Amino acid sequence: MRRKLAAGNWKMNGTLTRVTEVMALCAAHQTPSVDVLICPPATLIPALATATTDHAVAIGGQDCHAAVSGAHTGDISAHMLADAGATHVIIGHSERRADRGETSADVHAKALAAHTATLTAVICIGETLAQREAGETLDVVGTQLRDSTPDSATGENTVIAYEPVWAIGTGKVPTLEQIGEVHAALRIALTDRFGADGNAFRILYGGSVKASNAAEIFAVPDVDGALVGGASLTAEDFSPIITALENA
Ligand code: PEP
Repeated sequence: MRRKLAAGNWKMNGTLTRVTEVMALCAAHQTPSVDVLICPPATLIPALATATTDHAVAIGGQDCHAAVSGAHTGDISAHMLADAGATHVIIGHSERRADRGETSADVHAKALAAHTATLTAVICIGETLAQREAGETLDVVGTQLRDSTPDSATGENTVIAYEPVWAIGTGKVPTLEQIGEVHAALRIALTDRFGADGNAFRILYGGSVKASNAAEIFAVPDVDGALVGGASLTAEDFSPIITALENA
């Protein structure tokens, strides 16, 4: 049985005043039956990791460098995230693949670094609208999954997030059939590669998840939770998504 995961990606949003949102979330979900993760900007990780010490909300980074340390101005290593109190790190988000030209080989190297630092890597994959319209979705996500995921990946240290690029921050969501088709294909790819262990990986859906559509998305087979951007920024918006996952 895979434990479900509700993960929030705050992107470049939030200052110290937002600690109160996470405390409100902790108060509303004291013993959740699903895992809850918030990935704030790196500047907030120490404060949030401290604030959530006795609570069921984990804190993660949004990216890491593949190296442990060195001359990489502005970057943060997986070891540094762990040192700051993070337990997870998002890797290969489409905004980084697009804005920073990150390849699946880069993501693979970052995932290895995350595993070495004992962080759980949340590896993001997803097709663009042009790729979907060209009928390339399963090829694209299959290739991204294969090339981004290292052999050291297990259901413990790695989470896969399927995030159609065209659904992120747009309010557009694939049909439930489209989500189910991709998640089923990803599950088969994981079990083909990792054997029975492939069933232990959690596969999240991400892209315009909100309280009003969460329950129907969570009812799709092989959807083990969500990676949520905009609707994770406040406890008011994120809490009902967590509850929908608990009830799925
Ligand atoms: C994301 O940034 O990973 C994401 C899914 O964003 P949103 O929920 O805002 O579409």
